[in-house]
Amino acid sequence: MNKYTGKGVYSAIAIGKISVYKRQEATVKRVRIQDADAEKKRVAKAKELSNQELSEIYEKALKEVGETNAQIFEIHMMMLEDEDYNESIENIIETQMVNAEYAVAVTSDNFAEMFASMDDAYMQARSADVKDISNRIIKNLSVDSNEESAVTGKMIVCADDLAPSETVSLDKDNVLAFVTAKGSSNSHTAILARNMNIPAIIGVGEEFLKQIKDGDLAIVDGFKGEVYVNPDDDTLAEMEKIQNEDNEKKQLLLELKGKENVTIDGTRINVFANIGGVANIGAVLQNDAGGIGLFRSEFLYLENSDYPTEEQQLAAYRKVLESMAGKKVIIRTLDIGADKQVDYFNLDKEENPALGYRAIRICLTRPEIFKTQLRALYRASVYGNLGIMFPMITSVSEVSRILEICDEVKKELDADGLKYSEHVELGIMIETPAAAVISDLLAPMVDFFSVGTNDLTQYTLACDRQNPNIESFCDTHHEAILRLIQMAADNAHKHGAWIGICGELAADTTLTEQFLRMGIDELSVSPGFVLKVRNQVRNTDLSK
Ligand code: PEP
Ligand code: MG
Repeated sequence: MNKYTGKGVYSAIAIGKISVYKRQEATVKRVRIQDADAEKKRVAKAKELSNQELSEIYEKALKEVGETNAQIFEIHMMMLEDEDYNESIENIIETQMVNAEYAVAVTSDNFAEMFASMDDAYMQARSADVKDISNRIIKNLSVDSNEESAVTGKMIVCADDLAPSETVSLDKDNVLAFVTAKGSSNSHTAILARNMNIPAIIGVGEEFLKQIKDGDLAIVDGFKGEVYVNPDDDTLAEMEKIQNEDNEKKQLLLELKGKENVTIDGTRINVFANIGGVANIGAVLQNDAGGIGLFRSEFLYLENSDYPTEEQQLAAYRKVLESMAGKKVIIRTLDIGADKQVDYFNLDKEENPALGYRAIRICLTRPEIFKTQLRALYRASVYGNLGIMFPMITSVSEVSRILEICDEVKKELDADGLKYSEHVELGIMIETPAAAVISDLLAPMVDFFSVGTNDLTQYTLACDRQNPNIESFCDTHHEAILRLIQMAADNAHKHGAWIGICGELAADTTLTEQFLRMGIDELSVSPGFVLKVRNQVRNTDLSK
């Protein structure tokens, strides 16, 4: 048995088999081969696997985003069988005696270029599809029969580190837990794990990856941040006991479903949930959240291989609003940049990405992207109770410009004869010290504030949230942060706005009483923490 220690980011225990995360090679190498037939057989097998994956994705998309949006995967399945495409791959293998990966990559480049040079916009768009299916085949070529993962079903995914875009593309139904050698507990990967209600241990060290293999049994203890690989019988029995006790406690919390978030002395607060996409809605409903306080819409962009269209976004926002049946849903506009990188945005590499071209700065300088999202949001607003929130605000002029753009979008929708609700609340995130300090000027401009304590901590304490080496300096209870929150709360209320907290600190039950005393109106937490926070609120007495 080996034991490793890192930072636990969701308190639960998972017991299961390890699957080592295999990252796709960024570049395909040209390798001379001896047996062209064997190579062609590998292609056939990879295509079969790709077809199987695509039909599963199609079925999933059909349920989650509807037929129109799911059709793209049908097109991909058809492309896999295209005669010219397949002939080209076989010819390259036979005539050049090269490996299948290389033949697929060259065919992909040739076909993509051919589509891109066509006049018809529909055919041009197929260029990205060819690249997409080719990448899928190349990925599946590396799943050789004797190398296939021994692990099927639910597994503990272990990696050196996971980028948010990699985390979102994992099949969430089959992930029991994450363990990463590197990374920090404030990263978006950690946040995603919390949203998925699964234990994750971050930063267990490089040695871990050298000692494990697919199929090893492991125990992930999210309470203590410990991982046991090939545990002995006593440890296994002890951890199973803790797991059962934890499940019982969580079961008890379920009794709070349907109850109010009210303190002993009668002070009420909203407890909402944070989500990264439509897939988290089940957890929101199961945990009886009063609404959605933060929908990180950028994950829609991270999941896609191209800018999501207005219709695609509308389908996702509509689904969330309809599922919440009239309860408040706050959708944050695109917060891309820093650790959330999307290839097709073609952002420059920056020295200090957290202080760089990100979030609202991208939206205000690339209004076509911003307006597409706002059109989708306003159109979705007729299906529920929508609030729109803008990230990374630092100045009054940014908010003025945002409000102007919102008015322009509404006028354009009027001209197009498209409906939207007149009751959409507009809010901003307070996640830079600048926004908190000028919150007296910002409050009259908006309906609500939502404090993003993850970034507010990073910017106030000059602590990169991605850097595990300085976590001990990132004191989230630092007086400077609590004072900035209090200042924003006072200014919001002075000007008739409401204020919530949607950063990870909202789930810290040692601060619930203090937040209530500050007059915070809403706490928005990962779905799995909603009932824990409700329990804390119900056990608090502010009259003392
Ligand atoms: C925050 O900064 O606290 C926040 C909620 O936004 P994100 O974690 O997505 O940056
Ligand atoms: Mg933030």
